[in-house]
Amino acid sequence: MQKEIRKIQELDLRGKRVFVRVDFNVPLKHDGDKWVVTDSKRIEGALETIRHVIASEGKCILASHLGRPKGKRDSKYSLEPVGAKLSELLGKDVILTDDCIGDGAKSLSLRMRNGDVLLLENLRFHEGEEENSPDFVAKLLELTDVYVNDAFGTMHRAHASTVGLPKMVPQRGAGFLVQKELQYLSKLRELPERPFMLIMGGAKISDKISILEHFLPKVDKVFIGGAMAYAFLKSQGHSIGKSLCDEKQEQLASKILKIADARRVKILLPVDHVMARSLKDVAGMKTTENTEIPNDFLGVDVGPKTLELFKSELDGAKTIFWNGPMGVFEQPEFAKGTFELARIIAETAALKLAGGGDSAAAISQSGSDSKFDFISTGGGATLEFLEGREFAGLKVLEFRKTGDA
Ligand code: AMP
Repeated sequence: MQKEIRKIQELDLRGKRVFVRVDFNVPLKHDGDKWVVTDSKRIEGALETIRHVIASEGKCILASHLGRPKGKRDSKYSLEPVGAKLSELLGKDVILTDDCIGDGAKSLSLRMRNGDVLLLENLRFHEGEEENSPDFVAKLLELTDVYVNDAFGTMHRAHASTVGLPKMVPQRGAGFLVQKELQYLSKLRELPERPFMLIMGGAKISDKISILEHFLPKVDKVFIGGAMAYAFLKSQGHSIGKSLCDEKQEQLASKILKIADARRVKILLPVDHVMARSLKDVAGMKTTENTEIPNDFLGVDVGPKTLELFKSELDGAKTIFWNGPMGVFEQPEFAKGTFELARIIAETAALKLAGGGDSAAAISQSGSDSKFDFISTGGGATLEFLEGREFAGLKVLEFRKTGDA
């Protein structure tokens, strides 16, 4: 029997307490005596679903984690600044509970009027969330008539709010953001239009190796930048100086190069680099003449010749997926390669998708986000989905096509 994910549009929300698992794990900074949200993209991403609950006359109860408070209340990880930002974006009051479970939250939920929005305090202030403990699930259930998950980035984890709770709620489905993630990422995973070009960067090669392996049979070219590239260059015998790379990574890179060669997939690596004596040595940064990096330097970004090469090789692509920065883009002087690549991709006629790790932040900082067709909100989850892994948080939302659970 074929299964499908039920959608929020198919649920009856009127007068119901709709528990919406969102991903409000946003960056914060300390400003004077309070914390403020520095990037509200994830909050904006949930607005369509929240507005739908309001318009359907449901009672919207939002739940999220923020940071890693390790099962204890910690004001540094309070969702209070998120509530303030959400209220500003929605143009309406958002009530924040002191705790995500307990009598206070329950009685507030029961007093809600249709169209009200309640934000529960950080789920991870309780160990039961990550442990998926039955007691914690039972407490969340006291607040829930209908369950919606709109937090794609958390669906690969079997936590109380992503798996334990929805199992107990017959009326459950996926929010608009999750639907959009599935639409684009499934297409990319199953049937990308070719030529399909994959661009990978960032530092954690071990996290990305299985995605490379998954895509090698259906990709036409792979572009590699960021710290990952040094493992590939080293395995080809180039000098990489003090650049980030260990032996295991070099072995993984060498394995990928062999598979790519056998499958006739072209792998493009940097042909020049921005380098410095250390990550702090901004003043001493230099651009190499060619692929080689001298012993006392480390690579911090791709160079201009690499960008030219990548630009010309991307020409004609029908699908591009980009994951991971080309350099240490958090340092403005080392961000040029990443930002410039975002602009190069933005100018192509391909279906332009990005996701995972820092890519969304980098694209947004480069000012090219509106030109991308879709930027996935998930970090590790996006990569795991593309590798073909099954998500516990998605499976729990599946129904047989003909009828009920
Ligand atoms: P990832 O989470 O694997 O996508 O890696 C992202 C991180 O890779 C960012 O924090 C970058 O600063 C880092 N990164 C990218 N290029 C380099 C490099 N050349 N050397 C050190 N770190 C890098």
